[in-house]
Amino acid sequence: MEPWRLEKVSKCFNCGKEVSQIIEIFPNQAYITCSNCGAKRYYIIRRIGIENEDIIIKEKNKKHKYDIWSLSKIAVCFNCKKEYVQEILITETKLIVRCKNCGFTRVYQFHILEIK
Ligand SMILES: [Zn+2]
Ligand SMILES: [Zn+2]
Repeated sequence: MEPWRLEKVSKCFNCGKEVSQIIEIFPNQAYITCSNCGAKRYYIIRRIGIENEDIIIKEKNKKHKYDIWSLSKIAVCFNCKKEYVQEILITETKLIVRCKNCGFTRVYQFHILEIK
């Protein structure tokens, strides 16, 4: 299955450079890889279900050590099968994807960091 692929320019916590971080989201896991140093963060699926917007809002309002990445992508939802805006929120501990049409949400938990 093709992952959803996104990019975000951000300061890498490992090499300290302001470069593209490649985000790849699969149904059961997600990776964020620094395009400069290759440091890779693994997130693993924890929870799947229909959620309202609160799940995103609550996570945004929590205190975080690092900047939260708030992204979106038009993609075909695994649940409603429509091409619709998918909200993507990434923190140091979680990665949340939510379909704005049906509320189908996947919550991934940070697992490990691999440094090359
Ligand atoms: Zn880096
Ligand atoms: Zn949907």
